[in-house]
Amino acid sequence: TYVVVENCIKCKYQDCVEVCPVDCFYEGENFLVINPDECIDCGVCEPECPAEAILPDTEPNLEKWIELNTKYAELW
Ligand code: SF4
Repeated sequence: TYVVVENCIKCKYQDCVEVCPVDCFYEGENFLVINPDECIDCGVCEPECPAEAILPDTEPNLEKWIELNTKYAELW
């Protein structure tokens, strides 16, 4: 799955939301999150993000962000 990280905070772009084929972006507290259960790992959103705030969850040191994406996605 892909995960939204810090650079997304207060970002006003929604390019990722528009390209996601499964609509798995949701509003977090002050940034967007990806629902890990719905993301199909297509990777389309990553290059579309102007803030470079989307990373594959296989990158190192993302534990905190993986947790936050899961937490906020589950509120919906
Ligand atoms: Fe959506 Fe694909 Fe990005 Fe997952 S990797 S959030 S399915 S666009």
